[in-house]
Amino acid sequence: ATFEVSASPVEGSSGEAVLLCFEDVTQLEQAGEIRRDFVANVSHELKTPLTALLGFIETLGGAARDDAQARDRFLAIMLREAERMNRLVRDLLSLSRVESEERMRPTERVDIVRLVNNAAAPLRAIADDAEVELELIGHKAPVFVQGDEDQLTQVFTNLIENGIKYGTSGTKVTVAVTYTHRELAFRGPGVRVDVIDYGEGFDPVHIPRLTERFYRVDSHRSREMGGTGLGLAIVKHIVNRHRGRFRIESQIGEGSKFSVVLPVD
Ligand code: ADP
Repeated sequence: ATFEVSASPVEGSSGEAVLLCFEDVTQLEQAGEIRRDFVANVSHELKTPLTALLGFIETLGGAARDDAQARDRFLAIMLREAERMNRLVRDLLSLSRVESEERMRPTERVDIVRLVNNAAAPLRAIADDAEVELELIGHKAPVFVQGDEDQLTQVFTNLIENGIKYGTSGTKVTVAVTYTHRELAFRGPGVRVDVIDYGEGFDPVHIPRLTERFYRVDSHRSREMGGTGLGLAIVKHIVNRHRGRFRIESQIGEGSKFSVVLPVD
């Protein structure tokens, strides 16, 4: 722990008595450190694609000016780098909005079964490209929660996208919605959405840190797949806002399961 100490003479004691005040600033210090790390991380993540872009712009204006083949190749790389920056800025904005709203209770009445279906539908094309079968196991009837439709859609989009990204071609990603009459965590009814993949998985020692911003099990692989390292941090904040629970399980070589449990209206 870190303490800040201040001393002041006790009134009427003519200086022989001093009041010492100890203030625990551990949390403040930690918050400062987290903020500094975050700024350093963001700067680094933005600088890498920016440096590449600047280099290619220079080359296109100079050495590669009259080389049509090189130009096409460089433009393709520049597009990829610009898209990376775009995704990063989009995720940063999302994260900051979600964090600032975390204490406000969402008010919409949302059918989780329909929402999960709608979130999965546009991802079928990505699944097809990755040769992953997207399997949906829904609940027969609608299950309503009090929530924010856009944010919950983002939760399941991020989780299903990760399942496809880190899954293995030729296997499937299962999305299952289960209603529970008595969810222990809420002492009432709940709904659980499991996103299960049969991909590479990871050592469970990473689980406690996985929802930290920019924490990645394998940075190289994440970047190669176009990841920003912010997806699970966004998921965690949204689930917190909905007073839900977020659970992660994984085994190397077997796959992973990401579960979101929400209180039912
Ligand atoms: P990223 O943009 O890097 O995918 P996320 O915040 O979504 O960032 O995930 C953080 C890290 O967690 C990833 O870099 C990856 O190492 C790991 N991860 C997330 N989902 C999965 C999954 N389904 N299978 C294996 N690893 C995963």
